[in-house]
Amino acid sequence: MIFQFRYRYRKYAGSGFTCNVCQSGYSRFIPSFPAPENAAALQRHKVIAGYGEQVICPFCRSTARERLVLAVLQDQFNLKDKLILHFAPEAPVYKYLNQEGKVITADIEPGFYRNLDKHCREENLCALSFENDLFDWVICNHVMEHIKTDSLAVEEIYRVMKPGGQALLQVPFTTSVEENIEIDNENNEVTRSPLYGQKDHVRIYALKAYLELLKAAGFILHVQYPEELKKYQQFAIQPGECVIRVQKPVNA
Ligand SMILES: [Zn+2]
Repeated sequence: MIFQFRYRYRKYAGSGFTCNVCQSGYSRFIPSFPAPENAAALQRHKVIAGYGEQVICPFCRSTARERLVLAVLQDQFNLKDKLILHFAPEAPVYKYLNQEGKVITADIEPGFYRNLDKHCREENLCALSFENDLFDWVICNHVMEHIKTDSLAVEEIYRVMKPGGQALLQVPFTTSVEENIEIDNENNEVTRSPLYGQKDHVRIYALKAYLELLKAAGFILHVQYPEELKKYQQFAIQPGECVIRVQKPVNA
């Protein structure tokens, strides 16, 4: 067992990167590349979608997008006693949120998440059951690209947030076009992979269009671009990724 462990991890041993989930140090992380049926669309449109040379932690299997969200939350915000809605909860992020604040987890298919949180609620992001002005934070990491009526989801997130509340609404995106790539009558599981790079995605977001959608819902935008995120490179975050944080105005 110990021999297997050493053999498996030896090629990643060293320093240069640290996993901010399991605190281990590595010379590199495990790469992750899209399946062939998904690769063409992602490459054609240069989509920042969570793939690359340094993605998965050799020890705890955390992903680059989880480590980025965790780094930003740990480094920049005080979540003590905050009421947080964590949609489609990822384990490393959830564990941190849960130790800091009070977390309600939810998903349209909560069964996937009940090993992590047995109270994970069944919620449709486009018709949330929560009252208005409830949450200090909403964490929704790579969810919107699965939702056909994303403007409804954004309005619902806005509605359930307290005035002054904040949300992290990460999505895969491209900056190579200004309009979303979304073909209404070509939206089925067979055509989605070649069009959008994943069979359960319903569009490729143009970053510009996505930010306009968030702004149209009333949010104040606080986007951190790759240049500002260089300080988190030690956690093997994805080059080119932005942090898309929004705030409901205090006087909303
Ligand atoms: Zn790790």
